Amino acid sequence: MDSADFVIVGGGIAGLSLAAQLGGTGRTVVLEGEQALGYHSSGRSVTFSHYGIGNATVRALTRWSRGFFLAPPDGFAPLCHRMPALFVATAEMLDTLAALEATTRGLSPGVESLDAGGMRALCPVLRLGDDAIVAGFADHDGLKLDADALLQGYARAVRAGGGRVETDAAIAAIAHDGSAWVVTARDGRRWTAPVLVNAAGAWADAVAALAGVAPLGVTPLRRTIIVVDAPDGADTRGWPFVKSAVDDFYLMPESGRLLVSPVDETPSAPCDAQPEEYDIAVAADRLTHFTTIVPRRIGHSWAGLRSFARDRVPAAGFAPDAPGFFWLAGQGGYGLQTAPAMAAIAAALITGAPAPDMAGVTPAAVTVDRLYG
Ligand SMILES: Cc1cc2nc3c(=O)[nH]c(=O)nc-3n(C[C@H](O)[C@H](O)[C@H](O)COP(=O)(O)OP(=O)(O)OC[C@H]3O[C@@H](n4cnc5c(N)ncnc54)[C@H](O)[C@@H]3O)c2cc1C
Repeated sequence: MDSADFVIVGGGIAGLSLAAQLGGTGRTVVLEGEQALGYHSSGRSVTFSHYGIGNATVRALTRWSRGFFLAPPDGFAPLCHRMPALFVATAEMLDTLAALEATTRGLSPGVESLDAGGMRALCPVLRLGDDAIVAGFADHDGLKLDADALLQGYARAVRAGGGRVETDAAIAAIAHDGSAWVVTARDGRRWTAPVLVNAAGAWADAVAALAGVAPLGVTPLRRTIIVVDAPDGADTRGWPFVKSAVDDFYLMPESGRLLVSPVDETPSAPCDAQPEEYDIAVAADRLTHFTTIVPRRIGHSWAGLRSFARDRVPAAGFAPDAPGFFWLAGQGGYGLQTAPAMAAIAAALITGAPAPDMAGVTPAAVTVDRLYG
């Protein structure tokens, strides 16, 4: 049996970022059930960092994390490049757009109100007019993140700090022997540590059940992405991430093609999520509503799970009913853009060290305590 100070179940962005952060405070082992890190949600994201999602706590976590992405520590490849976010509204969405613009102005110096010409200059395929987009604003400080560079950078940091990252290590049993947690993989391998971190994404409640710990109520919601060709001859390199103010459509340019989502949130059991025909059709329909593009064929599509606590704020902290059992769950639709901040807070909660000052967020805002009782 391999012993460590911290055993982390889940090799997605949550588990790896926390493991890297804990380096130097003890020996860490990350256990991922799949053969590849980030196989589930963390590898299925569109990995864009912006303020058009989540509540004030999520936005503050997003803001604090930007420094890490823009100037990562040694050992990380470049993690991001700038891409504007363009938030658009039809006539019925104007109030929501105005509120979002006011909020975003308070967080980003890069906000610009745009008229039709300004929106068209940024994204020439938008469908503008009384029956379509009537208003919009840009945040020129959006960041397109590189999920793979982030995951691999964190994994390298874990190893450089003396920790281990094991794939193909699906945990099937968890017990407490009176002084430490003992986790057993499906193939019989075992690890032990006084602190067990549950960073199992959509499976967070299932992993808690293995340990006999009460569930937190983490709900996986499926989200679909379709990939379509850009119009012939279009140079999409300067195009923005485009999102409707009420969360029913987004589009992102990537490698000359367009990723499009109907922003679906369908409850799902934890699983290897697959796109449904209906959601693919809705994505194509919304694309024709918000843009002048008529998709000729849908090259590829995928789905992933975004898992939320009931208040949609990520959750970190020790379970009150199980000493040494630590939750890092409910990253929802912002697990990548908030990862550096959540890892810093989670590590502080585990080690007892003070959390960094994150204008607007204290550890109390994200601790699991709020979800019990
Ligand atoms: C379509 C889509 C678009 C998104 N866009 C964005 C975006 O633009 N920006 C952003 O910040 N976020 C985005 N997200 C959200 C983001 O992907 C998630 O918040 C984040 O990946 C969650 O990370 P995680 O580590 O908690 O979960 P995961 O990446 O799912 O990792 C959990 C891991 O735990 C493992 N596991 C579970 N049970 C066990 C077990 N018993 N034993 C061993 N291992 C186990 C799983 O195999 C899994 O790899 C998007 C998500 C989707 C689906």
